[in-house]
Amino acid sequence: MSADTPGGERERADFVREIVAEDLRSGKHRTVVTRFPPEPNGYLHIGHAKSICLNFGIAQEFGGRCHLRFDDTNPTREEQEYIDAIEADVRWLGFDWGEHLYHASDYFEQLYEWAVHLIRAGKAYVDDLSADEIREHRGTLTEPGRDSPYRTRAIEENLDLFERMRKGEFPDGTRVLRAKIDMASGNINLRDPVLYRILHASHPRTGDAWCIYPTYDFAHGQSDAIEGITHSICTLEFEDHRPLYDWFIENLPVPSRPRQYEFARLNLSYTVLSKRFLLRIVNEGRVRGWDDPRMPTISGIRRRGYPAEAIRDFAAMIGVAKRDSVVDVAMLEHCVRDALNRRAPRRFAILRPLKVVIENYPEGKVEELDAVNNPEDFSAGTRKVPFSRELWIEREDFMEDPPKKFYRLAPGREVRLRYAYLIACREVLKNAAGEIVELRCTYDPATRGGDAPDGRRPKATLHWISAAHAIPAEVRLYDHLFTRPDPGAGGDLLADLSPKSEEVLAGCLVERAVAEVPVGEPVQFERLGYFCPDPDSKAGRPVLNRTLTLKDTWVRIQARGRQDD
Ligand code: ATP
Ligand code: MG
Repeated sequence: MSADTPGGERERADFVREIVAEDLRSGKHRTVVTRFPPEPNGYLHIGHAKSICLNFGIAQEFGGRCHLRFDDTNPTREEQEYIDAIEADVRWLGFDWGEHLYHASDYFEQLYEWAVHLIRAGKAYVDDLSADEIREHRGTLTEPGRDSPYRTRAIEENLDLFERMRKGEFPDGTRVLRAKIDMASGNINLRDPVLYRILHASHPRTGDAWCIYPTYDFAHGQSDAIEGITHSICTLEFEDHRPLYDWFIENLPVPSRPRQYEFARLNLSYTVLSKRFLLRIVNEGRVRGWDDPRMPTISGIRRRGYPAEAIRDFAAMIGVAKRDSVVDVAMLEHCVRDALNRRAPRRFAILRPLKVVIENYPEGKVEELDAVNNPEDFSAGTRKVPFSRELWIEREDFMEDPPKKFYRLAPGREVRLRYAYLIACREVLKNAAGEIVELRCTYDPATRGGDAPDGRRPKATLHWISAAHAIPAEVRLYDHLFTRPDPGAGGDLLADLSPKSEEVLAGCLVERAVAEVPVGEPVQFERLGYFCPDPDSKAGRPVLNRTLTLKDTWVRIQARGRQDD
């Protein structure tokens, strides 16, 4: 299999797809079964999107199936809100698990039986050491661990204690069930890992049925085995856990033997992909919530206006590797611009308005001019935009005393108003404070549509809106959440949060057609960037998020890279 990058280059299949293809060719598996296994303790982020595109993508490409499984083994941190958001986000990305929605909690009874199976086989024991003592006994990377004094408990006693743990006879933290493997193992994960802990906590799905919960490590591989997962694909930090997962599979009567393959997690510049940190800035009110348009969460980038298609393109472009690296966020933004450039209708909006009065244009007259909706897509057609005597232009498109390379409007100078006329600035009106409040201009009636019969070609073309027809809007400008590409490298993540990541402009004006754009749908404001209406929009007063500016830095970064080669 190969993926088309947005640049049109054919990529070689990644190592995971090669393994899957070989397993199907050799007959080791008749069909491929993967899963995406989130823990419902937060919202999904763009890193999870990489894993979703990989797991669901492989299932699609090879005609297999992909399960959505919630690894819900820690009721103290998990919530229904997260479960619902995760399902919505996977669907939004364009993937479907069909009938195959599962939960580790569906298997609690089976996992309990398997724990008993290990006890009976002399391979698990109830330990009365405290969490701190267990940690102390565990040893370090260079020193072996020490046996717990409870390691040699009789099987009957272990069975009795474990049953009473389940019945709720003991308080939280007083006992755990541990596997009996090897306290001297070079792999710390094999030094008698904890299988069950006592937690008198209600679970979003099983309620109060349980007061002992399996650890993630004990639940994860067995859940894969129960579901017949053929390729358990996970991130590199689980490489050291693989021997433990294999130990469980070898020592339990599981119905199948999944194999685990590890790939490098996505790291992005200017971005933190840690649910714990994201939860913290949500709780501290440093952002508008999990779906704040600056968040790297799937719900955040959706609200920001990133299309799902662009996320899938990005996943294909970065590929899947075994070595950790940091991807330049400009590459993600490139994929987003690429998708939006094809789809987003062009509209006029003025972020910081400056009044223009066309002195020689008749009062009360309105002309409907034709404007192209999308030069990349002629099937998108044209629309009518009203032109009249009083207009708004962008404040930064005028300078009273322009420097050399400023070609836009200035006293005595002529520019083109897009789809309209050439206008020239005759006079600058100021208020008592000396601020420019209005430009008096004239237009050339012979230039309707923007072309002068005598071939005059102004250097600048500006966007504009008829004052009588403009709709007031709030525009929220977004930029990277962090000031540095490697947030936290200076020791303090919070200190690297950018004070300029959001700028709210209250007095913006947009053309009528913008007010009709549904929430989440993209528009391009000519010369300004890609935007989309926010759910905070109200009738008659849209709120627009800037998805991205128009400037694609990735193309330049790539060009520079080629020069360096
Ligand atoms: P945290 O964000 O706190 O590290 P987590 O990423 O481990 O939590 P899970 O819900 O366990 O959260 O992740 C579900 C799946 O997504 C796992 O298989 C995990 O390997 C994968 N995943 C998580 N982060 C990334 C990432 N940055 N890149 C690729 N895959 C990821
Ligand atoms: Mg995890």
